Amino acid sequence: MPETRPLLMIPGPVEISPAVLAAVSTPPPSHTSRELIDAFAESLAAMRRVWQAGPESHPFVVAGGGTAAMEMAAANLVEPGDGVLVADTGYFGARMAEILRRLGARVRQVAAPVGEVPPVEAIAQGLAALEQEGPAKALFATHVDTSTGVRLDPEPLARLAREHGLLSVVDGVCATGGERFEMAAWEADVYLTGSQKALGLPPGLALLVASPRALETRARRSAPPPSLYLDWHAWRPILAAYEEHRPSYFSTPPTQLILALRTALREILADGIETRIARHRQAARALREAWEVLGLVPVPVRPEIAAFTLSALRLPPGVDGSLVGRILERGVAVAGGLHPELRGTSFRVGHMGYAVTRPEMLLRTVRAVGEALADAGRPVDPRAAEAAAAAILDEAPQPKVAG
Ligand SMILES: *Cc1c(COP(=O)(O)O)cnc(C)c1O
Repeated sequence: MPETRPLLMIPGPVEISPAVLAAVSTPPPSHTSRELIDAFAESLAAMRRVWQAGPESHPFVVAGGGTAAMEMAAANLVEPGDGVLVADTGYFGARMAEILRRLGARVRQVAAPVGEVPPVEAIAQGLAALEQEGPAKALFATHVDTSTGVRLDPEPLARLAREHGLLSVVDGVCATGGERFEMAAWEADVYLTGSQKALGLPPGLALLVASPRALETRARRSAPPPSLYLDWHAWRPILAAYEEHRPSYFSTPPTQLILALRTALREILADGIETRIARHRQAARALREAWEVLGLVPVPVRPEIAAFTLSALRLPPGVDGSLVGRILERGVAVAGGLHPELRGTSFRVGHMGYAVTRPEMLLRTVRAVGEALADAGRPVDPRAAEAAAAAILDEAPQPKVAG
């Protein structure tokens, strides 16, 4: 059969492994079946390991997009009038701020120019100003902003929040499973994601792990969160039952996706979370070399703040947004610009999840981008770009390298 489906190299959804595909392609098990309960129990335990979270932390998994995970974190922790700070690195920081405003929070944003991250000192100043205005509750940040390809370092932000007696909430939708995050060691309070990004599942699951402090904050609320579906207290007894291998019901989980979640987390843990992250780092490095050979300039202004999970690239002179269509004609789907300031002047390539274990997918992507650029009149050498990436992908991944 000819291959008509393009290779999916957008920043989510992404290619999934054959085993994950097989798991979602089963007749739906009942939500009270042994099969489903066992998969749920194993998945919750595996989440703590992938998140590097402590035994007292609580994983939550519900049907929904990454945005539902953002809403779940905010709805449980924030009450009207609470002061919150958003470290805003792009499109999804702005979304988080909007969610918080709708909950009645007093929101202060500390932004950075496109392609930059706000310095920790600026965030510390923002917190001081927030505390001047009234009581503050939490610091929100986006680990990898999918609109700019920028990664901020959550570790100093979690520490800063702790020093101020605030909770830290990190949107890891384009990062969890592909970027370093040590929830327990860093004492972060919520790390959230969606299934279709670096975890390597189809879309449809909102996932997060909450720290004991975050759970206490929910327990001490003066009123329950406005959303029943997203209320941690609605889900805790259900998930606790699943962890004890007992059936339970609050709202029907997407049962095939739970089977797939177990499979995807097994694959990550079989590799080891450190090695999995090292593979993302290596893929990013290989592609960065290739982009350089092709004369493409990344949106992130410094390599240290460029995500491992995607590349946001500026369109070269004389090339417009039709490049994305030309790349698709070569069998690879990439994405256009998402950030309002980058629409029509940039494009994005996802390299997360299963694809980072498949060098041929990465090299096929480089070739398609290179040929499309040549097609658009750029004087580029796609084969040289592919060779540059291949040389790096031939190395063994190095889990112990920092960064
Ligand atoms: C994709 C993404 C989201 C939104 O996820 P949806 O599943 O589309 O709702 C939120 N934050 C970040 C950082 C993302 O990359």
